[in-house]
Amino acid sequence: MAGLTTGIALRQAGYEVEIYEKTSKLRPAGAGISLWSNGIKILNKLGLGEKVAAIGGQMNRMEYRNQYGEILNDINLLPLVEQVGQRPYPVSRTDLQNMMLEAFGKEDVHLGMRCVSVEQNENSATAIFADGTTATGDVLIGADGIHSTVRNYLGGKKVEPCYADYVNWNGLVEANPDLAENDVWVIYVGDGKRASMMPVGDNRFYFFFGCPKPKGTKVAPKDIRGELAEIFAGWAQPVQNLIAQLDPEQVNRLEISDIDPLPHLVKGRIALVGDSGHATTPTLGQGGCQAMEDAEVLCRYLVTTNISVEDALKRYEAERKERVAKLVLKARQRTDTIYNKVPEETQQWYEQLKQEEPKDVTDAISKIILGGPFH
Ligand SMILES: Cc1cc2nc3c(=O)[nH]c(=O)nc-3n(C[C@H](O)[C@H](O)[C@H](O)COP(=O)(O)OP(=O)(O)OC[C@H]3O[C@@H](n4cnc5c(N)ncnc54)[C@H](O)[C@@H]3O)c2cc1C
Repeated sequence: MAGLTTGIALRQAGYEVEIYEKTSKLRPAGAGISLWSNGIKILNKLGLGEKVAAIGGQMNRMEYRNQYGEILNDINLLPLVEQVGQRPYPVSRTDLQNMMLEAFGKEDVHLGMRCVSVEQNENSATAIFADGTTATGDVLIGADGIHSTVRNYLGGKKVEPCYADYVNWNGLVEANPDLAENDVWVIYVGDGKRASMMPVGDNRFYFFFGCPKPKGTKVAPKDIRGELAEIFAGWAQPVQNLIAQLDPEQVNRLEISDIDPLPHLVKGRIALVGDSGHATTPTLGQGGCQAMEDAEVLCRYLVTTNISVEDALKRYEAERKERVAKLVLKARQRTDTIYNKVPEETQQWYEQLKQEEPKDVTDAISKIILGGPFH
């Protein structure tokens, strides 16, 4: 997401761009994603607004329910859209990736190229690949995700992701009224766990479950339905229907991690974008959106300042570092609240959900969105 968005933005600005990807076959890394309005605004700027709207679900409301299905809060999202000037779109990751690849040019992504190190001098930066080949340019952008190799070069040491102490299961399922209404993002919460569905294009729900777990638990795909049935036993009927209807072979089961905020996002002619610079737990739904914001801001400084590449990258870092650090820490705190790190705080949050005005929820989301490059 970070690499393709940055590639499209830079190319549209007139730069020659090459993308190198370690996998030899492109496949989506998960089922769905909610792109909040700040991410969509970047796609609009890149001329992809209509395309993303076509693959997006219509998410008009957000419902919090307890595990028995009783409503805790019912939030109309249309005032949020008015407030921020753009609808959010939950999308399938495959659809999103295909859209981005088409926009950049699939044939221009060099596959099977694992970057093993990087180097630079005063005129250029070079990526060195596992097969011994190299690629040199004016700027090198590390968009290589949470286990980034480029990040190790920037900091001079390996940065290990921090396990967030919970497992996420996610996938896609055909939408039907036994599960949820098709314009609602529904989130069931209870006992420090959650189960959720949101509409994406083509009459499907992106679903996810979350539950605290120690690191290292493994479950074979064929046993995932049983695992979920046990964890969510006694939860509301739509959650049971979801567990019955999902295809366990297609469920992603992930241990969730983030990284501590980094002291630097750039060094000389080398910059980090996306998860390589600020991998976050997904509890604010902002990781991918922040990758898109990175792309816009990085491109803007390269285009609008002309002292040097190094100077443009420093300006990029100055604009992004605090924003992404705050969001990573905020998401981490929210993760702890949702997943029972301190059980009393989780209980308090359930109480708060019942009492909170919908406007408080949409104001909080709007504040995050409007903190991005487009207000
Ligand atoms: C369960 C879950 C739910 C999420 N939900 C949301 C959401 O609702 N909204 C949202 O905005 N975000 C969400 N996110 C976050 C979002 O998925 C990430 O922030 C986003 O995918 C980051 O994109 P990226 O391009 O930086 O990294 P990645 O998607 O990890 O891409 C990195 C790429 O670099 C390649 N690569 C890695 N190492 C090398 C190397 N050495 N050489 C060459 N290539 C390499 C990888 O193969 C990969 O293709 C979620 C994340 C998770 C885990």
